[in-house]
Amino acid sequence: MSTIETPTLTLPEFKNEPYTDFSQPGNRLSMEQALAKVHDEFGREYELLIAGERVKTGDLLKSVNPSCPREIVALHHKANAELARRAVESAYEYFPEWADVPARTRVEMLIRAAGIIRSRKHEFDAWLVYEAGKTWPEAEADVAEAIDFCEYYGRQMLRFARPDPLVQLPGEKDDLVYLPLGVGVVIPPWNFPLAIMAGMTVAALVTGNTVVIKPSSDTPAIAAKFAEVLLEAGFPPRSFSLMVGSGAEVGDLIVTHSKTRFISFTGSRDVGLRINELAAKPQKGQVWIKRVIAEMGGKDAIVVDREADLNSAVEGVALSAFGYQGQKCSACSRAIVDEAVYDEFVEKLKQRVSSMKVGPSDKPDYYMGPVINDRARKSILEYIEVGKREGRLLTGGAPGEGEGYFIQPTVIADVSPKARIFQEEIFGPVLAVTKARDFDEALEFANDSEYGLTGAVYSQNPAKVDQARRRFHVGNLYINRKCTGAMVGAHPFGGFNMSGTDSKAGGPDYLLQFLQAKSIAEKV
Ligand code: NAD
Repeated sequence: MSTIETPTLTLPEFKNEPYTDFSQPGNRLSMEQALAKVHDEFGREYELLIAGERVKTGDLLKSVNPSCPREIVALHHKANAELARRAVESAYEYFPEWADVPARTRVEMLIRAAGIIRSRKHEFDAWLVYEAGKTWPEAEADVAEAIDFCEYYGRQMLRFARPDPLVQLPGEKDDLVYLPLGVGVVIPPWNFPLAIMAGMTVAALVTGNTVVIKPSSDTPAIAAKFAEVLLEAGFPPRSFSLMVGSGAEVGDLIVTHSKTRFISFTGSRDVGLRINELAAKPQKGQVWIKRVIAEMGGKDAIVVDREADLNSAVEGVALSAFGYQGQKCSACSRAIVDEAVYDEFVEKLKQRVSSMKVGPSDKPDYYMGPVINDRARKSILEYIEVGKREGRLLTGGAPGEGEGYFIQPTVIADVSPKARIFQEEIFGPVLAVTKARDFDEALEFANDSEYGLTGAVYSQNPAKVDQARRRFHVGNLYINRKCTGAMVGAHPFGGFNMSGTDSKAGGPDYLLQFLQAKSIAEKV
């Protein structure tokens, strides 16, 4: 056996967290009560949490309800450069102590964190509804995924604490041990403000790293609630800092700090590339190459073959394109359809999408809620105007009704693969539909992108499915199903090319990125 540390913790087999069925009156009531409770908490002030110390700066960031932007969800004290430096440096000081805590103990904390979130599931759902504009089922999926990350990474950590035996040379004891890296900076996006933020954070913590979390300015209250969970679960106050602040003001500083060992980022291509570039330059006193885990944008395509079950393809495209208002990195923003079924597909899709209702996300009657903020709304509406020139508007094409950041689900047909709306990530409820001569050309169009995150193929022909398995160049390929909704453990998630470093969150290799392996040979 090649271990230094033998964890004895035994956990039941991993199972994905089931989703609440909101059609049950009891569950509906519980969700309504949670929404009311969270609404009562609106406008509360949240301090920074720097290595266990609660700090006020008086410089406040406001997060609002995108369904009703005059409602202030929370006020957050913003970090300045000095506090950002302090967060990294105290994480650096505490790192050796935290790294020495047995993996088993860290895993126990993580499983406790999962249990706490589970017991407050609807409350977390409600925060996601109000701060991120998620509908009830979308919020529930986000919270369930956060629980899954905790449960799954806990189990994976036990595996790395007890690695497979090495070849034992005669006269030697040969070991491989996995060590944490040091201080990690965690920079999540707003679109899975609980699941992705929690996943990146707990992966770093459970492997024995200390962490500085810089949440998105759109969703800091959710991060503050999660920080409370970490403390309640027993994570030492000095093992992490929660640092709300602007990307430009404190983001660069924590990325470039000489004591930062790695950066775990999920967000847009441009910010990811900038972080990668900044991190590559060694700073005075820095004695390592910083590791960058960067999961970035997507321009995900669904290919609909002439031999597809057309009704299920229409449904898969509609749900993948407009779930959470198209604001998923995995969202379908290009439907590429064989010319033999193009007209029929387009007609069915138009009908299906026209039936999708848009409105405040706290009301369960709507399939779609608002987009995240006014900037996103403007940018998406600009893209819609570009799209109207680049193709034929099929449905939508305008803001939705009401004071929230609503946009109608928009489909633009007859789009050329060279069009901007075919090539650029819009990150909103806008779908481009493109006609292809045959399956080969459809795959060619699908691969004609700098991104390579998710993709799906609808076809009943096994040879074409096989071709897609080999040729469709994406990190997450789905066959005869939608291209969103990756499940922890079943669909390790991460993209190719400009979609990122293919870290495969929720997969068996993910934690390796937060570890370094040390080989030890002892003469015996
Ligand atoms: P974003 O790049 O604008 O922001 C991401 C995070 O980076 C935020 O916390 C932001 O505050 C921070 N940031 C911004 N500038 C910074 C700087 N100079 N230094 C340090 N941090 C900085 O992205 P977003 O709008 O929050 O999220 C949407 C994007 O995320 C989309 O492109 C989407 O495709 C992508 N995304 C990718 C995945 C994936 O797994 N590949 C998952 C979710 C979202």
